[in-house]
Amino acid sequence: MTGTLIEAPRRVVAGLSALLVLAALIMLTAMADSTMQPLPASAPSGEFSAGRALRHLERFATEPRPIGGPAGERARTYLAGQLRAAGLEVMTQRAIGANASTGLAAFGQVHNLVAVRRGSDPTGTVLIAAHYDSASMGPGASDDAAAVAAMLETVRALGGAALRNDLVLLMSDGEEDGVLGAEAFAREHPLGREGGVLLNFEARGVAGPSMLFETTPGDAELVRTFGQAVSHPRGNSSLMAIYRLLPNNTDFTPLTEAGFTGMNFAYLERSSRYHTAQDSVDQLDRGSLQHHGSTMLALARTLGNADLATLRAGHDATYFRLLGVMVRYPQALVWPLALLAVAAVAGLALVARRRRLLSLPRLAVGAVSGVAPLALAVVLAQGQWQVMAGMRPVYDVMGGLLHRPGPFQAAVALLAVASVLAWYAALRRVAGPAALAVGALAWPAGLGVACAAYAPGAAYLLTLPALAGALGGLGAVLLPPRWRVAALTAGACVSAMLLPAMARLVLDGLGLALGGAAALVVALFALTLLPFAELLSPPRRWRPAVPAVAAALALALAAGGLAVDRFDAADPGRTHLAYVMDAGARTAHWVSADTDPPAWTRRYVSGHDVSGLPPGYARGALWTGPAPAAPAAAPRLTLLGREGGTIRLRVRAGRGARSVTLRVERPITGATAAARGLTTVTVPVTGARAGTWPGEVRFRGLPAGGAEITLRVAGAGPVRVTAVAETDGLRAVPGFTPMPPSLVASTREDGGLMAVTRTYAF
Ligand SMILES: [Zn+2]
Repeated sequence: MTGTLIEAPRRVVAGLSALLVLAALIMLTAMADSTMQPLPASAPSGEFSAGRALRHLERFATEPRPIGGPAGERARTYLAGQLRAAGLEVMTQRAIGANASTGLAAFGQVHNLVAVRRGSDPTGTVLIAAHYDSASMGPGASDDAAAVAAMLETVRALGGAALRNDLVLLMSDGEEDGVLGAEAFAREHPLGREGGVLLNFEARGVAGPSMLFETTPGDAELVRTFGQAVSHPRGNSSLMAIYRLLPNNTDFTPLTEAGFTGMNFAYLERSSRYHTAQDSVDQLDRGSLQHHGSTMLALARTLGNADLATLRAGHDATYFRLLGVMVRYPQALVWPLALLAVAAVAGLALVARRRRLLSLPRLAVGAVSGVAPLALAVVLAQGQWQVMAGMRPVYDVMGGLLHRPGPFQAAVALLAVASVLAWYAALRRVAGPAALAVGALAWPAGLGVACAAYAPGAAYLLTLPALAGALGGLGAVLLPPRWRVAALTAGACVSAMLLPAMARLVLDGLGLALGGAAALVVALFALTLLPFAELLSPPRRWRPAVPAVAAALALALAAGGLAVDRFDAADPGRTHLAYVMDAGARTAHWVSADTDPPAWTRRYVSGHDVSGLPPGYARGALWTGPAPAAPAAAPRLTLLGREGGTIRLRVRAGRGARSVTLRVERPITGATAAARGLTTVTVPVTGARAGTWPGEVRFRGLPAGGAEITLRVAGAGPVRVTAVAETDGLRAVPGFTPMPPSLVASTREDGGLMAVTRTYAF
């Protein structure tokens, strides 16, 4: 009792036509989801123009703007001037922002720019937010200056036209050090505590469409507004589940925790430039800037005139695009659709059994064993990453976000296809083609049910391909022969429009280090296409060769990718180098966290001896080398008082130092920061830092007069604290030569810094 879902007279022609249709759909989907074309500076004045926004970027986004540095102040002066010239009320909020993570309390003196455009008859506030600070390694033209420039251009395009609601612009500081500016705004600023509708804009790359990737609960009305108001709406409700897999956080989090409802947008292509010197105005895709800005302007106009009270819905929306059309349905349909997909697959199984195409035991073999190709695809993709990172440790330093990921991404897809084909070839004789094709659909259907329970916004990705695939299969079994291939092709169309695009997005967003996630998506896609395997299967003796050829092709692609991917000035490699001087012991060292430092870095580091490093400093495996003394500022701690585990300290950093970090030899349970003229902030801390002393307190952008920090440590007895003053740049170290253009500083907290330490016991 075996058979195939399709018997077609000219099967190869039919099969190839079907694949052609599906390939065309995959391409059309990619085209329909592309970035916008940038508008020149001469565009009509009511429109958003990337050309005009770019002029702002060139004024303030050409140098790194970490919290507390002079470049941030220069940017702030420019931005405030532009906002005032546009007729807005502008204020600078100076405050201490705070954040805690495992074993760490992070503080910073932030300078947020807040600008207000009063509404004519407000129903609430529309808050547009982006951060003007950047990571210390690069100018952050995409992350997040593009969105800040877009705000200026949006305000200009709005012109004198009255909006009903108050419009507040937040250009936040200290986002890169733990969303410090947004935290202070939400906690202390009157406009932050009032709530409203938030539009936050971000980037995790330098190109690609601006996508809605995060919303607050009850988003149905917001998403409807987004789909209708914005000319090129991009994004879908599954992105939130993917975003949760990343360590990233944005200003959206503290602001929505404080009561704002809203939407979070980002672009994420060419992410190998993210948080490096190459996040520059040159590298920024003008289309992404246009897309950010067009979305921002359209939503400012629409939400600016909406009755904001009506935007809070009682339910979430599922939303995604099919060939350029935004599809939306309420969360109430997620479970019914998921169950319908399961029922459709079951129905297909029963009809196929009645037609004697499969038996229930064979179907069980097909369905249960379907986990094998899914697991194999994940293992192979992660294995490829392990081999790549083993051969080129710098790929790991880059977080799996490569300059030329194309061949490796294609290899991930091919390995997933090879996994499915190998499974199919192995079980085809035993179970029969129909049992495998129908059993395979149990996986997207079943995982759709799991998603309905745990990530409802992502359920459509699996539920709809399973449902459509099962209906296509029913058509193939029940319709007259000449309609069968057409029915199957129609059924597979949904899968072709949803899953390959998602695989690409997952690869761009998560990088090759998590290539297994994309491989899983591709393998699920391949499972929904199994009926076509019979149309295109070669003569029996050639069949085992098919998966082998796919795997060999994947290997060739990966090898070619390694051969082609060379580092140069256009596509630089990465390295980590820091300088640390122990002011007490009068010793200094170069330090690198690279696994395999490049030649430039090896001029400074030569071994792994960490014994000379200051107490509590070494974290992870480090390269070290002797260094000369440098004229860098040393930290100074003064004990103001101690009661039990509560230690009150005055912290000063010295001239030129931007930040001070305290490493504590015992875990801390909390910390308080106070500075003259600023509201005192306390954060609780749990857990311990790994690989160094377990407690850590940072104060970035330390005021000139220093700050008062109170540590709460567990237990009694003396506690050693190493204070680290951090000064940007290594040029002041005698004998230092800047890195060649084929390298950029890696994304690591102390890279490119001069650290001077002093250890105290209290
Ligand atoms: Zn950012």
